[in-house]
Amino acid sequence: MEEVINGILIREVETKNIMTKSSLPVGGYSVNPYVGCTHACKYCYASFMKRFTGHKEEWGTFLDVKHWPEIKNPKKYAGQRVVIGSVTDGYNPQEEQYGNTRKLLEQLIGSDADILICTKSDLVVRDIDLLKKLGRVTVSWSINTLDENFKNDMDSASSIERRISAMKQVYEAGIRIIMVIYK
Ligand code: SF4
Repeated sequence: MEEVINGILIREVETKNIMTKSSLPVGGYSVNPYVGCTHACKYCYASFMKRFTGHKEEWGTFLDVKHWPEIKNPKKYAGQRVVIGSVTDGYNPQEEQYGNTRKLLEQLIGSDADILICTKSDLVVRDIDLLKKLGRVTVSWSINTLDENFKNDMDSASSIERRISAMKQVYEAGIRIIMVIYK
């Protein structure tokens, strides 16, 4: 299925396995519930993904919503590093409608995996209930300026104020956080 919603080309795509083995030396898994990222950061390092997924649209103007077979044996990932959002932000604005990242977290409950969520959104606050159940989880936000006007020129992600407020809420819920500052 394919449709344009608010100027974003949305496609629903089937994938055989949502858990992709990471090619990084540290090993583990890289998990991206979407292809593309509508935060559309001008400096995005992940836009190379277009080449591998057949997308010709401008980065930030398309989003593939993945459908995958349910993870039946989450224990298989016990002790493994699982990075969610390595090449797309799982908490893009469309996540509110499609809930793919929430679905993934639900399927990883009981895995005892070492989960790292990378985001520039405050939508992750919605899933604090699941983060608490997952136990070994860290949420990482990146911030490259405190100037909201500059940020708005660079990306469409949550405002800096909302990111900092989300960090506070997640931290106060007893979940480990990281703030990555780019200069
Ligand atoms: S949030 Fe990350 S993946 Fe998304 S566009 Fe920005 S840099 Fe790229």
